[in-house]
Amino acid sequence: MELKKIQNYIGGKLLPPISNNYLNNFNPAIGEVYSEIPDSSIEDVHLAIVEAQKVKDEWANLALEKRFLILNTIAEKIEERREELALAESIDNGKPISLAMAVDIPRAASNFRFFATAIMHFASESHEMAGDAINYTLRKPIGIVGCISPWNLPLYLFTWKIAPALAAGNCVIAKPSEVTPMTAYLLSEICIEAGLPQGVLNIVHGLGSTVGEAMVRHPQIKAISFTGGTNTGARIASIAAPMFKKLSLELGGKNPNIIFADCDYEKMLNTTIRSSFANQGQICLCGSRIFVERSLYAKFKEDFVAKVKALKVGDPLVEGSNLGAVVSEAHMQKVLSYNNLAKEEGGTILCGGERVQLEGRCENGWFISPTVIEGLSYDCRTNQEEIFGPVVTIMPFDTEEEVLKYANSVKYGLASTLWTADLNRAHRMAEQIEAGIVWVNCWLHRDLRTPFGGTKASGVGREGGWEALRFFTEPKNVCIQYQ
Ligand code: NAD
Repeated sequence: MELKKIQNYIGGKLLPPISNNYLNNFNPAIGEVYSEIPDSSIEDVHLAIVEAQKVKDEWANLALEKRFLILNTIAEKIEERREELALAESIDNGKPISLAMAVDIPRAASNFRFFATAIMHFASESHEMAGDAINYTLRKPIGIVGCISPWNLPLYLFTWKIAPALAAGNCVIAKPSEVTPMTAYLLSEICIEAGLPQGVLNIVHGLGSTVGEAMVRHPQIKAISFTGGTNTGARIASIAAPMFKKLSLELGGKNPNIIFADCDYEKMLNTTIRSSFANQGQICLCGSRIFVERSLYAKFKEDFVAKVKALKVGDPLVEGSNLGAVVSEAHMQKVLSYNNLAKEEGGTILCGGERVQLEGRCENGWFISPTVIEGLSYDCRTNQEEIFGPVVTIMPFDTEEEVLKYANSVKYGLASTLWTADLNRAHRMAEQIEAGIVWVNCWLHRDLRTPFGGTKASGVGREGGWEALRFFTEPKNVCIQYQ
């Protein structure tokens, strides 16, 4: 089989890495290399910065309407190529193609359309001062910014950063995950077709330790928007801090899903299946710790486990597969290692917890059966560490105070879900849960205008809506006193 070779996108051209070295890229559903990606080096990052420098003033000063038209054209072209992009995303990441078609790719188009439109309404603030002066705040593009994204929602999260950065008038150096580079490569083709001026967006493929760090270290990249693991975020922050580089960090999570007995049971049950196992549990917002009010616990356990056992783990390209492959062999081993740990910590595996051996073309793929564990204490490692796979724990609770203590016991604070018909309780708990996002009687109900991000070890800063446009601009306050 001939390997598909992808290229960097620098200065408007598809280019091989300067070193001419490539990395293997695997299809997780079959466990084989299917493409090669540039193993770029610091020289490729420098080249991208030189290209961005040439055009950054022109892009920053382009009439807003022209910027809008180009970004909107990118959105349209993503929609036109939706099937091809969804297929690429599924092959690269292992996710069911139905999920990529329904969520990942439409959302990537929405990111461009939303921020292209939002920038047209991103007005400067002005304030009168006691009748003798006026203050107004200009929002200037930062210049050249860096966007670094993970593998779990490849195009969705890549564009979630690139679109607001470009809309705000910046030039961008972007690095997708080396594990899932394919849709970023196809986006390069789309940007060329859409007429994005050369050098405005540069996509450099390669490892985090080389390309990612070179971006963080380069003084011409004035801001870094990063989504990925908490340890990586800490490393980036430590490198960027002495340079006073602006940072947005969207990091890991260990989210609570809190279920009270008065909830809408059927809706809760079906949504909890999704919030536990969508994308093989590889969404930073998945609710991996499920706390159930004791009076409902036995019924929930029986119904939930029955539904989990009925989920189909299968070929991601076949309609009807609920779970596809996890992203890599190393990740599969990491996720499976938590079964032994959970048992050592006193847990019982109610279902799943094994590598699934499929027949046919996927016989060597990296599949895991959806796993439910009970009997663990809230503060054991299995309940404290991010597993980022199809694994949830279930635990009963008696009071609001108790479940709040469990929910807030982890170092993370990204998202949380609460199921109750009691509005007072919903407000009370939403106020006290340590998380950047609280969903009540729903999950992953997203509006692109709202702030997105986490507290504690889940990150610094927020994305979405004005938050993203504020991050990608530098405010300048001007005060004029009347003569
Ligand atoms: P990761 O931190 O290993 O990698 C993320 C990106 O950073 C990749 O592009 C990688 O190449 C790059 N990178 C790695 N080391 C780097 C370095 N030293 N300097 C600069 N860049 C570097 O994360 P991952 O395994 O790709 O993704 C999974 C993690 O992402 C999970 O922890 C998950 O919770 C988190 N995540 C968070 C959010 C959120 O919005 N908070 C969303 C999705 C995923």
